[in-house]
This record gives sequence, structure tokens and C-alpha cells, in this order.
Amino acid sequence: MTRRRRLAAGNWKMNGTSAELAEISAVITAHPAPDCEILICPPATLLERMSRDIGEAPIAVGGQDCHREEAGAHTGDVSAAMLVDAGAAYVILGHSERRQDHGETNDDVRAKARTALATGLRVVICVGETLTEREASNTLDIIGGQLAGSIPDLVTGENLVLAYEPVWAIGTGKVPTTDQIGEVHDFIRLQLEKRLGEGVALSVRILYGGSVKASNAAEIFAVSNVDGALVGGASLKAADFAPIIVALDAAGQRVPG
Ligand code: PEP
Repeated sequence: MTRRRRLAAGNWKMNGTSAELAEISAVITAHPAPDCEILICPPATLLERMSRDIGEAPIAVGGQDCHREEAGAHTGDVSAAMLVDAGAAYVILGHSERRQDHGETNDDVRAKARTALATGLRVVICVGETLTEREASNTLDIIGGQLAGSIPDLVTGENLVLAYEPVWAIGTGKVPTTDQIGEVHDFIRLQLEKRLGEGVALSVRILYGGSVKASNAAEIFAVSNVDGALVGGASLKAADFAPIIVALDAAGQRVPG
């Protein structure tokens, strides 16, 4: 039976210059042979150097966004091919900060994902409700709409990762209860099964993101259908990220079904 390899993904957002590359060396020293997969998504300016510094160590790097077009007159944007050229294996798409700051819609996310997949990248597609939507009991409707609208048809169990990130939990220190996380992750798995069939759906990893830290990681990783985490603030320092990797390794691998 195939297992879903757990994934600890760090999103550095608009943080980090070359001085911070030392944090990755510290993660490698702390975890020379992790059971889980480790992914770091630094700002685009650091991708190539981080990728070179990592060398043969078992850490993947990824972008935080890419353009929907392959190339062209789009000042300031980064293409999927540029990410690959700089060493990226993954790209985060549809992060709530992109949806909020840049007005990205589900259509935009789906178009970007199509281009990224065609370029050979794996995609981490983010979904999540705002506090207003949760308080109005609309969480599952919102997540269902984001899944239906953001996931393109080309996906497989290997090239798609989902991240459930309640907007109100990102960078706030507020975390949903384990029941709330489990409800959404089980719902996402069910929607994936309906859309992609059981075989593919059971191979897709579903990450939780939103104020994950060393003190809450083990509890979150024990929740049904949580296959890892997308970590923002606590991924910036090896001292904060390394214990999250320890907790993920301790949680063991997921067996689908
Ligand atoms: C994120 O940016 O994806 C995130 C989850 O941030 P934080 O861990 O800081 O809440």
C-alpha cells in the first residue's frame, strides 16, 4: 500500500536575505536524514543560492507564486520556468495573502497551477475561510468552492499538495480546535475523492497551516487527514522549525484508506 510521505513546508514570505541562508544549514545539521519531506519556499531572490547551498541534502525548495503565462511583458513577475531554472521543485499557489493583497481569484490560481504543472513543478494550493465566513457557518461551502475552482484537471497524487489555511489563523497565534481541523481535512479528502477518484485522492497530501509551532505541532499532526504543515513564522529560524520536523517524524507516515 502506498503511503503519503508527510511534508513539512516552510513559507518565508517576504522575509530573508542571504544572511538567513545559514538557517537552512542549521536545519540540515539537525535533520540529516528526516523521514518526512522538507520543503522551504524562500523569496524568489534566494531560491538559486538556497538550492545550491542545500546541494544533495534532502530538502526541496519552492517558489511562493508564479505567473499564469509562460513568459512575456509582466514586469516584476516570476514565471514557472524561472522557478525551475532556479532549482524549485514546488510552488505555493493561492496563498490567502496573494488572494487578499493581489485580488487573486480561484480562476487565477487554476491558471497558474496549469502552467506550473506543465512546467514540471508540484503545486501547493492553499484554501481557507475568513473569520467572518467561519462565524457564518460557511466554512465548508467556501472551501468546497475554492477546491472546485482552483484545482486544474492535470493533477495527480504526486504533483498536487493541498494546504488548509484558515485566514484568521495565519500569523495570529490563533489555532482552530483539532475537531475543526479534522472536519475540514476530512471534507477536503472527500471532495478530492469525488473529483479525482479514490486512488489519486488518497495519495494527495493535505497540510494544515496557521500558527503551527513546536508547542502545538504534535497535537495537530495527530488529526485525521493532516499529512504535514505549511509553516510561516516558525519556519524562519531553524530553532523553531526543527522541532516541528521532529514532531512530524514522530507522528509516523500516513497509510491511505
Ligand atoms: C503561512 O503563511 O502559510 C502561515 C501558515 O503562516 P504562520 O505559520 O505564520 O501562521
